[in-house]
Amino acid sequence: MSNDADHGSVDSTVNESPAEPETALETALRQLDRAATLADVDEDIVERLRHPARVTRVTLPLKRDDGRVDPIVGYRAQHDSVRGPFKGGIRYHPDVTEEECIGLGMWMTWKCAVLNLPFGGAKGGVVVNPKKLSLKEKERLTRRLAQELRDVVGPNRDIPAPDMGTDAQTMAWFMDAYSMQEGETTPGVVTGKPPAIGGSVGRAEAPGYSVAIITELAADYYDIDLNGMTVAVQGFGSVGANAARKLQDMGATIVSVSDVNGAVYNPDGIDTHNILSHEEKPEAVLEYDAPSIISNDELLELDVDVLIPAAIGNVITVDNVDEIKADMIVEGANGPTTSGADVALEERDIPVIPDIVANAGGVTVSYFEWLQDISRRKWTLERVETELESEMAKAWASVVDVHEDRSVTWRDAAYTVALERVAAAHNIRGLWP
Ligand code: GLU
Repeated sequence: MSNDADHGSVDSTVNESPAEPETALETALRQLDRAATLADVDEDIVERLRHPARVTRVTLPLKRDDGRVDPIVGYRAQHDSVRGPFKGGIRYHPDVTEEECIGLGMWMTWKCAVLNLPFGGAKGGVVVNPKKLSLKEKERLTRRLAQELRDVVGPNRDIPAPDMGTDAQTMAWFMDAYSMQEGETTPGVVTGKPPAIGGSVGRAEAPGYSVAIITELAADYYDIDLNGMTVAVQGFGSVGANAARKLQDMGATIVSVSDVNGAVYNPDGIDTHNILSHEEKPEAVLEYDAPSIISNDELLELDVDVLIPAAIGNVITVDNVDEIKADMIVEGANGPTTSGADVALEERDIPVIPDIVANAGGVTVSYFEWLQDISRRKWTLERVETELESEMAKAWASVVDVHEDRSVTWRDAAYTVALERVAAAHNIRGLWP
């Protein structure tokens, strides 16, 4: 992902292939502008939604294990809260920029709206390589981040969650630091926590699980038989591994999965339960005994029924889109397809089921977790899974309606549903003062 975002110079021409590579913010703005031409919404509201409500920039003095102190920069971009508290993850990654956080925060607004959750959208990021932090350094950094963001987060204000480079333990430190300062245990300030301190069962598996649920619904829509349906999954972290395993359990044939080092490939299917996910053991995919090892680029170009990019953003671009042979793409990662590639896929009639629907199971179970925290009542795994399936099916049905009624792509349909819901709330609430 590029670092040199330039918010002011975004060319949001609707049908032209934009210059690449593009930033998350550029992609998000192009998608918003495109949806604005399709949805029935007030121009002034769209203009407001092109900007975040607030961005907080912090400098975190990190005391290293050797005693040095490094200033580390972090952001929390709060995009829109008209439908409820801001909601979205915090990532630790060396390429984090303010613009990336804003773009990813916008996606959270749409994701929550398309799932009809009573949340707005936000995203945070810390410019640091988590692989180069010791556990103690990561803990100190996270506690200081919680302190610096204390005025802008809170269970009714803005609720962070894990994202790239952060996990349940990170959320536990954040929740503890916030609670100590507040003088009361406040589990609802973050989601994606360990179940022992108010996390929800099923939260860690939820983004991958929702990718599998949506893949099943989309396969059904196109009359593809799930039994024997071939699937390639890029990335074997919490999204990719859980999606692959779930789809395998549903009867699909997973022919390839990958991590940063490459992909294992077997046209007859691989047993994804026998491959360690990134959380179980980082970078262990190639330890699996498969007949062939291929590159991540080759995985994307496999002739499969369904391709699931579930690693990082901007992997399907104008440079490789002509080589894509999958019949359908389901986006597990946030922003894996650039706008230019999106246009090319539309021209080739390859359906792309967008991230804001497919991986929204994460934030949906975050909502369930928040409900459990504020009501102090635990749900069973069965309840979490049943309610997740039902929320995903409702969101899918509303996207199908727009896809059919207005003859638009899946991404445009999802954006239209989200934008109309957000705009309706802005309209009814009106402007203050
Ligand atoms: N970071 C996740 C996402 O991109 C989850 C956000 C949340 O649960 O708030 O959807």
